[in-house]
Amino acid sequence: MMVVERIREVRQRVREARTQGRRIGFVPTMGALHAGHVSLIRAARADGGFVVVSIFVNPAQFDDGRDLEAYPRPLEDDLEVCTREGVDLVFAPKREEMCPDGPKTTVRVPGMSETMCGAFRPGHFDGVCTVVAKLFAIVQPDVAYFGEKDAQQLAIVRRMAADLNLPVEVRGCPLIRDTDGLATSSRNVYLSDQDRRRALALSRALLEARDAVVGGERDAGKLADAVRRQLADAEGVETEYVAVVDPDTLDDLECVAENVLVAAAVRVGTTRLIDNVLLRDLGERGGGG
Ligand code: AMP
Repeated sequence: MMVVERIREVRQRVREARTQGRRIGFVPTMGALHAGHVSLIRAARADGGFVVVSIFVNPAQFDDGRDLEAYPRPLEDDLEVCTREGVDLVFAPKREEMCPDGPKTTVRVPGMSETMCGAFRPGHFDGVCTVVAKLFAIVQPDVAYFGEKDAQQLAIVRRMAADLNLPVEVRGCPLIRDTDGLATSSRNVYLSDQDRRRALALSRALLEARDAVVGGERDAGKLADAVRRQLADAEGVETEYVAVVDPDTLDDLECVAENVLVAAAVRVGTTRLIDNVLLRDLGERGGGG
Protein backbone atom coordinates (compact mmCIF):
# COMPACT_ATOMS: atom_id res chain seq x y z
CA MET A 1 0.00 0.00 0.00
CA MET A 2 1.28 3.44 -0.92
CA VAL A 3 0.84 6.35 1.51
CA VAL A 4 1.37 9.78 -0.01
CA GLU A 5 1.03 13.36 1.18
CA ARG A 6 1.53 15.20 -2.07
CA ILE A 7 -1.07 15.95 -4.75
CA ARG A 8 1.57 15.57 -7.47
CA GLU A 9 2.31 12.04 -6.30
CA VAL A 10 -1.36 11.00 -6.12
CA ARG A 11 -1.79 12.11 -9.72
CA GLN A 12 1.26 10.15 -10.81
CA ARG A 13 0.17 6.94 -9.05
CA VAL A 14 -3.36 7.23 -10.39
CA ARG A 15 -2.01 7.79 -13.91
CA GLU A 16 0.10 4.62 -13.59
CA ALA A 17 -2.94 2.62 -12.43
CA ARG A 18 -4.95 3.89 -15.38
CA THR A 19 -2.19 2.94 -17.80
CA GLN A 20 -2.57 -0.59 -16.46
CA GLY A 21 -6.24 -0.41 -17.41
CA ARG A 22 -7.54 -0.06 -13.83
CA ARG A 23 -10.59 1.95 -12.90
CA ILE A 24 -10.22 4.27 -9.93
CA GLY A 25 -12.45 3.82 -6.85
CA PHE A 26 -12.28 6.59 -4.26
CA VAL A 27 -13.32 6.72 -0.60
CA PRO A 28 -12.96 10.19 0.95
CA THR A 29 -12.73 10.18 4.77
CA MET A 30 -11.63 12.28 7.71
CA GLY A 31 -9.92 9.25 9.28
CA ALA A 32 -10.59 7.62 12.67
CA LEU A 33 -11.75 4.73 10.52
CA HIS A 34 -14.52 2.45 11.76
CA ALA A 35 -16.87 -0.18 10.36
CA GLY A 36 -18.76 2.45 8.31
CA HIS A 37 -15.60 3.48 6.46
CA VAL A 38 -14.55 -0.15 6.06
CA SER A 39 -17.85 -0.92 4.34
CA LEU A 40 -17.10 1.78 1.75
CA ILE A 41 -13.59 0.43 1.19
CA ARG A 42 -15.02 -3.07 0.74
CA ALA A 43 -17.58 -1.78 -1.76
CA ALA A 44 -14.75 -0.17 -3.72
CA ARG A 45 -12.67 -3.33 -3.55
CA ALA A 46 -15.61 -5.45 -4.69
CA ASP A 47 -15.82 -3.32 -7.83
CA GLY A 48 -12.25 -4.36 -8.60
CA GLY A 49 -10.71 -0.96 -9.18
CA PHE A 50 -7.57 0.72 -7.86
CA VAL A 51 -8.76 1.85 -4.43
CA VAL A 52 -7.77 5.29 -3.16
CA VAL A 53 -8.68 6.40 0.39
CA SER A 54 -8.15 10.00 1.44
CA ILE A 55 -7.68 10.92 5.09
CA PHE A 56 -8.05 14.62 5.62
CA VAL A 57 -9.71 16.46 8.50
CA ASN A 58 -11.13 19.31 6.45
CA PRO A 59 -11.03 22.56 8.46
CA ALA A 60 -13.55 24.22 6.10
CA GLN A 61 -16.39 21.94 7.18
CA PHE A 62 -16.02 22.59 10.91
CA ASP A 63 -18.06 25.46 12.27
CA ASP A 64 -16.56 25.03 15.72
CA GLY A 65 -12.79 25.39 16.20
CA ARG A 66 -12.80 23.22 19.35
CA ASP A 67 -14.54 20.40 17.48
CA LEU A 68 -11.85 20.64 14.77
CA GLU A 69 -8.97 20.53 17.24
CA ALA A 70 -10.52 17.67 19.26
CA TYR A 71 -11.36 15.52 16.20
CA PRO A 72 -9.57 12.14 16.56
CA ARG A 73 -6.56 11.60 14.27
CA PRO A 74 -5.25 8.06 14.86
CA LEU A 75 -3.27 7.91 11.59
CA GLU A 76 -1.23 4.80 12.43
CA ASP A 77 -4.37 2.79 13.27
CA ASP A 78 -6.06 4.08 10.12
CA LEU A 79 -3.15 2.96 7.95
CA GLU A 80 -3.34 -0.49 9.54
CA VAL A 81 -7.04 -0.70 8.67
CA CYS A 82 -6.32 0.37 5.09
CA THR A 83 -3.51 -2.16 4.74
CA ARG A 84 -5.72 -4.94 6.10
CA GLU A 85 -8.57 -3.99 3.76
CA GLY A 86 -6.37 -4.03 0.66
CA VAL A 87 -6.40 -0.31 -0.13
CA ASP A 88 -3.96 0.55 -2.94
CA LEU A 89 -3.22 4.18 -2.12
CA VAL A 90 -3.81 6.39 0.91
CA PHE A 91 -3.73 10.13 0.32
CA ALA A 92 -3.14 11.83 3.68
CA PRO A 93 -2.27 15.44 2.88
CA LYS A 94 -1.16 18.07 5.36
CA ARG A 95 -3.44 21.09 5.71
CA GLU A 96 -0.95 23.25 3.75
CA GLU A 97 -1.04 20.87 0.79
CA MET A 98 -4.82 21.19 0.42
CA CYS A 99 -5.14 24.92 1.09
CA PRO A 100 -1.67 26.52 0.85
CA ASP A 101 -2.79 30.15 0.99
CA GLY A 102 -6.23 29.87 2.52
CA PRO A 103 -9.50 29.14 0.72
CA LYS A 104 -10.87 31.55 -1.86
CA THR A 105 -13.06 29.54 -4.23
CA THR A 106 -16.11 27.96 -2.65
CA VAL A 107 -18.37 25.34 -4.20
CA ARG A 108 -21.91 25.72 -2.93
CA VAL A 109 -25.18 23.92 -3.56
CA PRO A 110 -27.67 26.47 -2.25
CA GLY A 111 -30.98 25.41 -0.76
CA MET A 112 -30.06 21.80 -0.05
CA SER A 113 -27.12 23.01 2.05
CA GLU A 114 -29.17 25.20 4.35
CA THR A 115 -31.80 22.74 5.55
CA MET A 116 -31.52 19.95 8.14
CA CYS A 117 -27.90 19.82 9.39
CA GLY A 118 -27.13 22.93 7.34
CA ALA A 119 -29.49 24.99 9.49
CA PHE A 120 -27.44 24.11 12.58
CA ARG A 121 -24.00 24.12 10.96
CA PRO A 122 -23.81 27.22 8.76
CA GLY A 123 -21.24 26.83 5.97
CA HIS A 124 -20.65 23.15 6.74
CA PHE A 125 -21.78 21.80 3.37
CA ASP A 126 -19.95 24.55 1.48
CA GLY A 127 -16.80 23.25 3.17
CA VAL A 128 -17.71 19.67 2.27
CA CYS A 129 -18.48 20.48 -1.37
CA THR A 130 -15.35 22.54 -1.83
CA VAL A 131 -13.04 19.85 -0.45
CA VAL A 132 -14.85 17.02 -2.27
CA ALA A 133 -14.61 18.96 -5.56
CA LYS A 134 -10.88 19.43 -4.91
CA LEU A 135 -10.41 15.75 -4.05
CA PHE A 136 -12.31 14.71 -7.19
CA ALA A 137 -10.01 16.97 -9.25
CA ILE A 138 -6.93 15.49 -7.56
CA VAL A 139 -7.87 11.79 -7.63
CA GLN A 140 -10.10 11.85 -10.75
CA PRO A 141 -12.00 8.73 -9.69
CA ASP A 142 -14.42 6.78 -11.85
CA VAL A 143 -16.55 5.96 -8.81
CA ALA A 144 -16.65 7.69 -5.40
CA TYR A 145 -18.21 5.90 -2.43
CA PHE A 146 -20.20 7.80 0.20
CA GLY A 147 -22.13 6.52 3.19
CA GLU A 148 -25.88 6.90 3.51
CA LYS A 149 -25.14 7.70 7.15
CA ASP A 150 -24.54 11.25 5.91
CA ALA A 151 -27.59 11.21 3.66
CA GLN A 152 -27.78 14.97 3.23
CA GLN A 153 -24.10 15.11 2.31
CA LEU A 154 -24.61 12.32 -0.23
CA ALA A 155 -27.57 14.12 -1.86
CA ILE A 156 -25.64 17.41 -2.03
CA VAL A 157 -22.45 15.84 -3.42
CA ARG A 158 -24.50 13.99 -6.07
CA ARG A 159 -26.18 17.23 -7.05
CA MET A 160 -22.83 19.05 -7.20
CA ALA A 161 -21.29 16.35 -9.40
CA ALA A 162 -24.32 16.41 -11.73
CA ASP A 163 -24.48 20.21 -11.93
CA LEU A 164 -20.75 20.52 -12.66
CA ASN A 165 -20.75 17.54 -15.05
CA LEU A 166 -17.95 15.94 -13.05
CA PRO A 167 -17.01 12.64 -14.69
CA VAL A 168 -17.52 10.59 -11.54
CA GLU A 169 -20.26 8.26 -10.37
CA VAL A 170 -21.25 9.07 -6.79
CA ARG A 171 -22.33 5.82 -5.18
CA GLY A 172 -24.26 5.60 -1.90
CA CYS A 173 -23.53 2.71 0.49
CA PRO A 174 -25.76 1.49 3.35
CA LEU A 175 -25.53 2.94 6.85
CA ILE A 176 -23.62 0.66 9.23
CA ARG A 177 -24.73 0.25 12.86
CA ASP A 178 -23.08 -1.26 15.90
CA THR A 179 -24.85 -4.30 17.35
CA ASP A 180 -26.75 -2.09 19.82
CA GLY A 181 -28.18 -0.06 16.91
CA LEU A 182 -26.02 3.06 17.22
CA ALA A 183 -24.77 4.26 13.82
CA THR A 184 -20.98 3.95 13.80
CA SER A 185 -19.27 7.33 13.86
CA SER A 186 -15.83 8.74 14.58
CA ARG A 187 -17.55 10.90 17.20
CA ASN A 188 -18.91 7.93 19.20
CA VAL A 189 -15.60 7.78 21.10
CA TYR A 190 -16.69 10.98 22.85
CA LEU A 191 -19.70 9.25 24.42
CA SER A 192 -19.52 8.11 28.05
CA ASP A 193 -21.19 4.75 28.80
CA GLN A 194 -24.25 6.58 30.09
CA ASP A 195 -24.41 8.89 27.05
CA ARG A 196 -24.05 5.94 24.73
CA ARG A 197 -27.05 4.24 26.35
CA ARG A 198 -29.00 7.48 26.07
CA ALA A 199 -27.96 7.89 22.43
CA LEU A 200 -29.70 4.63 21.53
CA ALA A 201 -33.02 6.50 21.67
CA LEU A 202 -32.09 8.02 18.30
CA SER A 203 -31.71 4.78 16.33
CA ARG A 204 -34.65 3.27 18.19
CA ALA A 205 -36.98 6.13 17.21
CA LEU A 206 -35.81 6.09 13.59
CA LEU A 207 -36.03 2.31 13.23
CA GLU A 208 -39.58 2.50 14.56
CA ALA A 209 -40.33 5.13 11.91
CA ARG A 210 -38.97 2.73 9.31
CA ASP A 211 -41.22 -0.04 10.63
CA ALA A 212 -44.17 2.34 10.49
CA VAL A 213 -43.47 3.15 6.81
CA VAL A 214 -43.05 -0.54 6.00
CA GLY A 215 -46.33 -1.13 7.84
CA GLY A 216 -48.05 1.35 5.53
CA GLU A 217 -47.83 4.75 7.26
CA ARG A 218 -47.66 7.42 4.55
CA ASP A 219 -48.34 10.59 6.55
CA ALA A 220 -44.98 12.38 6.85
CA GLY A 221 -46.23 14.64 9.64
CA LYS A 222 -47.27 11.68 11.77
CA LEU A 223 -43.92 9.96 11.20
CA ALA A 224 -41.98 13.08 12.20
CA ASP A 225 -44.16 13.67 15.26
CA ALA A 226 -43.68 10.12 16.50
CA VAL A 227 -39.89 10.43 16.24
CA ARG A 228 -39.93 13.87 17.91
CA ARG A 229 -42.07 12.55 20.75
CA GLN A 230 -39.79 9.60 21.40
CA LEU A 231 -36.71 11.80 21.43
CA ALA A 232 -38.40 14.33 23.72
CA ASP A 233 -39.15 11.51 26.17
CA ALA A 234 -35.54 10.29 26.16
CA GLU A 235 -33.46 11.52 29.08
CA GLY A 236 -30.35 13.50 28.21
CA VAL A 237 -31.21 13.73 24.52
CA GLU A 238 -31.73 17.15 22.96
CA THR A 239 -33.27 17.17 19.49
CA GLU A 240 -31.93 19.50 16.80
CA TYR A 241 -34.27 18.44 14.03
CA VAL A 242 -36.37 15.61 12.68
CA ALA A 243 -36.99 15.69 8.92
CA VAL A 244 -39.05 13.56 6.57
CA VAL A 245 -37.81 14.41 3.08
CA ASP A 246 -37.21 13.23 -0.45
CA PRO A 247 -33.73 11.65 -0.27
CA ASP A 248 -32.61 13.15 -3.60
CA THR A 249 -33.94 16.72 -3.42
CA LEU A 250 -34.21 16.97 0.40
CA ASP A 251 -37.62 18.63 -0.11
CA ASP A 252 -40.03 18.15 2.81
CA LEU A 253 -42.65 15.50 2.18
CA GLU A 254 -46.25 15.67 3.22
CA CYS A 255 -47.05 12.24 1.98
CA VAL A 256 -44.57 9.38 1.53
CA ALA A 257 -44.64 8.01 -2.02
CA GLU A 258 -41.68 6.24 -3.69
CA ASN A 259 -38.67 7.27 -1.64
CA VAL A 260 -38.31 8.67 1.84
CA LEU A 261 -35.51 9.75 4.14
CA VAL A 262 -36.34 10.14 7.83
CA ALA A 263 -33.36 11.91 9.36
CA ALA A 264 -32.60 13.42 12.74
CA ALA A 265 -29.81 15.11 14.65
CA VAL A 266 -29.52 15.21 18.42
CA ARG A 267 -27.10 16.25 21.09
CA VAL A 268 -26.24 13.84 23.87
CA GLY A 269 -24.08 15.67 26.38
CA THR A 270 -21.71 17.66 24.20
CA THR A 271 -21.73 15.14 21.34
CA ARG A 272 -23.74 15.80 18.20
CA LEU A 273 -25.12 12.67 16.55
CA ILE A 274 -26.97 12.18 13.27
CA ASP A 275 -28.85 9.14 12.04
CA ASN A 276 -31.49 8.26 9.48
CA VAL A 277 -33.51 5.58 7.79
CA LEU A 278 -33.86 5.52 4.02
CA LEU A 279 -36.52 3.65 2.09
CA ARG A 280 -36.68 3.53 -1.70
CA ASP A 281 -39.08 2.12 -4.29
CA LEU A 282 -41.98 1.91 -1.87
CA GLY A 283 -44.45 1.99 -4.75
CA GLU A 284 -43.07 -1.28 -6.11
CA ARG A 285 -43.33 -2.99 -2.74
CA GLY A 286 -46.94 -2.08 -2.34
CA GLY A 287 -48.05 -0.87 1.07
CA GLY A 288 -51.31 0.59 2.09
CA GLY A 289 -52.45 3.28 4.48
P1 AMP B 1 -16.20 10.91 7.65
O1 AMP B 1 -14.85 10.34 7.91
O2 AMP B 1 -17.06 11.02 8.86
O3 AMP B 1 -16.14 12.19 6.83
O4 AMP B 1 -16.96 9.86 6.73
C1 AMP B 1 -16.37 9.42 5.54
C2 AMP B 1 -17.38 8.59 4.79
O5 AMP B 1 -17.78 7.47 5.58
C3 AMP B 1 -18.68 9.37 4.46
O6 AMP B 1 -19.09 9.04 3.14
C4 AMP B 1 -19.62 8.85 5.50
O7 AMP B 1 -20.98 8.91 5.08
C5 AMP B 1 -19.17 7.41 5.63
N1 AMP B 1 -19.66 6.87 6.90
C6 AMP B 1 -19.42 7.34 8.15
N2 AMP B 1 -20.09 6.62 9.08
C7 AMP B 1 -20.77 5.67 8.39
C8 AMP B 1 -21.67 4.61 8.77
N3 AMP B 1 -22.00 4.39 10.04
N4 AMP B 1 -22.19 3.84 7.79
C9 AMP B 1 -21.87 4.06 6.49
N5 AMP B 1 -21.04 5.03 6.07
C10 AMP B 1 -20.50 5.83 7.00
